[in-house]
Amino acid sequence: MTAPRVSFVSLGCPKALVDSERIITRLRAEGYEIARKHDGADLVVVNTCGFLDSARDESLAAIGEAMADNGKVIVTGCMGATPELIREKHPGVLAITGPQAYESVMAAVHEAAPPAHEPFVDLMPPQGVKLTPRHYAYLKISEGCNNRCSFCIIPALRGDLVSRPAADVLREAERLVKAGVKEILVISQDTSAYGVDVKYAPSLWQEREVRTKFLDLARELGEMGVWVRLHYVYPYPHVDEVIPLMAEGKVLPYLDIPFQHASPAVLKNMRRPAHQEKTLERIRRWREICPDLAIRSTFIVGFPGETEEDFGELLDWMDAAKIERAGCFKYEPVAGARANELGLDEVPEETKTARYDRFMARQQAISASLLKKKIGRRLPVIIDEAHGTSARGRSQFDAPEIDGAVHISARRPLRTGDIVTVKIDRSDAYDLFGQAV
Ligand code: SF4
Repeated sequence: MTAPRVSFVSLGCPKALVDSERIITRLRAEGYEIARKHDGADLVVVNTCGFLDSARDESLAAIGEAMADNGKVIVTGCMGATPELIREKHPGVLAITGPQAYESVMAAVHEAAPPAHEPFVDLMPPQGVKLTPRHYAYLKISEGCNNRCSFCIIPALRGDLVSRPAADVLREAERLVKAGVKEILVISQDTSAYGVDVKYAPSLWQEREVRTKFLDLARELGEMGVWVRLHYVYPYPHVDEVIPLMAEGKVLPYLDIPFQHASPAVLKNMRRPAHQEKTLERIRRWREICPDLAIRSTFIVGFPGETEEDFGELLDWMDAAKIERAGCFKYEPVAGARANELGLDEVPEETKTARYDRFMARQQAISASLLKKKIGRRLPVIIDEAHGTSARGRSQFDAPEIDGAVHISARRPLRTGDIVTVKIDRSDAYDLFGQAV
């Protein structure tokens, strides 16, 4: 079992390069590996240039090479505007899309080489993200994982942790910001472990050495003047060091920590990292330093061996931790995962469903009461979808696709990607409502 691999050829002007960057960023975020050679990759994407005859010839030659070496080729970019020219020479290409058609490229990639989907740990929905966002981007900082959670096959699929050098990640972030991205979502399988594999080796960024380390990366990203959101962080002690950056407004006061459960027995069976940490105590201390901190997490109910008592512990933990956002999955065996061989009792389907419903009801009540406290506040909100003087956006406490929304009305027309101040005047279980000021 391996992750799908995409070989990428980028031709043309700086604008085309930005498109390539965006597509590669998305591919990485969805779990594709970027291959160095066409040969052996699952498919090739050629981002073409059609500005001059010579550029067109170069593009056609690059497509020909990809067809010969691999045979599964998706063409995008400026030459996509004249598909007949491409088809005439290379009738076998899988798909042709025009410049900046990220969504069509991703759809063609999904069709030719479906992404490897890991139900409990994927940040991306299996069908990919809905919007064609240009104002936010997922930035993947490492591949693979050193943990061995029993329900997960990612280490088998992608191998151990391989961190990208800090300078490499920062260069990608800088290019994204230059291309208009206003919010960077840092992702990996275990963001807090970033750099462990390379012993935090430094690399050169803007004439200074930056260590390949969670804190150092967060600090540098925090200087880029955009929203920086951290996903897949485990509650290790060194995470404490990042909280002051949140209190200072350098990175968003938001932590996505996949706790998955709260019962020590279940966490042990899950072989979760940091399962012995005293998470409630840690959360309390973080909130002391950064009172606005929003925590989002996911949980699995009905894991083999989960008793009513274990589940009760989870609900008690939820009551005590009062985290802002929580998603829940009913456990289903993942083919190839070790959890299937632990010899633990399966939880009956109706018990799983009942626990799921009880969990969601509890979280909904917590979410509703926390959101009510935001009424009257003025919050910065990034706009995801604008329709004249009304819009749908997100506060700093909400990540795209997985968290809640802020519904905005305004006196002036709003634009997607703008960050506006919104006075909150109403809330419900998951969303906020207010006026742009
Ligand atoms: S931390 Fe656990 S669940 Fe997440 S990728 Fe690694 S092994 Fe899988």
